Amino acid sequence: MRVNMLFNGNVYPRISSKIVLGCIVLFELMLLSSVYSQPNFQRQRERMVMIQLKTRDIYHNATLEAMGQVPRHKFVPEESQPFAYSDHPLSIGHGQTISQPYIVAFMTQAIRPKKDHKVLEIGTGSGYQAAVLAEIVDSVYTIEIVDVLAREAKNRLKSLQYNNVKVRSGDGYHGWPEAAPFDAIVVTAGAEEIPMKLFEQLKEGGKMVMPLGPHGGIRQLIRITKKKGEIKIEELMPVRFVPFTRDKN
Ligand code: SAH
Repeated sequence: MRVNMLFNGNVYPRISSKIVLGCIVLFELMLLSSVYSQPNFQRQRERMVMIQLKTRDIYHNATLEAMGQVPRHKFVPEESQPFAYSDHPLSIGHGQTISQPYIVAFMTQAIRPKKDHKVLEIGTGSGYQAAVLAEIVDSVYTIEIVDVLAREAKNRLKSLQYNNVKVRSGDGYHGWPEAAPFDAIVVTAGAEEIPMKLFEQLKEGGKMVMPLGPHGGIRQLIRITKKKGEIKIEELMPVRFVPFTRDKN
């Protein structure tokens, strides 16, 4: 009788199916919570492109596509990853910043990048702007004055397989004469005057964007075009940027 109570297939199986059902529900809840607690960076990136870029004045398709591709969260310190796709710049250490997504897109669009272009960037920082350019153009040369940042960016770009980017540690004021002339130059640090050595390394018809103005104040983002060897300057918008520094050695 006692044996029957335990094993007669009535009492025991009913308990076990409840336990099994409970386990399934618990497992699904755990799975759901782990899915929702993982930040969906791709979704955040899509929203960034839609809300911060398309609704403003970013219309260049290749730029929008590149901004939707590059994993910006991998270019910021771990503690800043939840804010990687927010509408503002972020600190990357050593007193430097990764620019706001909109500014990166605006500067990219402003040089009119094409598939066969060779582009020079001054101020590698995290390597994010270089990666965005590398999605669009043939090759990117980028120079960073803070040696640690240059090394970190080089490793990061390599691990993300941006094999068309060359990173150099040093003062970008001198440009990269061995690789010149460039179709375009992007200067991502604010200078008080136009570095003419960079202008010299621009191809005829080439474009250079850079923030120009006094340190500590509002600067103008300008676009320079080399027209028949002459310099043509357009003012694009007021911006704040970390300073273009010079190597004292
Ligand atoms: N483009 C970067 C952000 C740049 S912040 C990114 O996408 O993350 C500006 C960078 O310019 C800083 O890292 C600063 O160290 C660098 N910089 C300033 N003066 C420089 C110079 N003369 N040559 C090369 N890099 C310079």
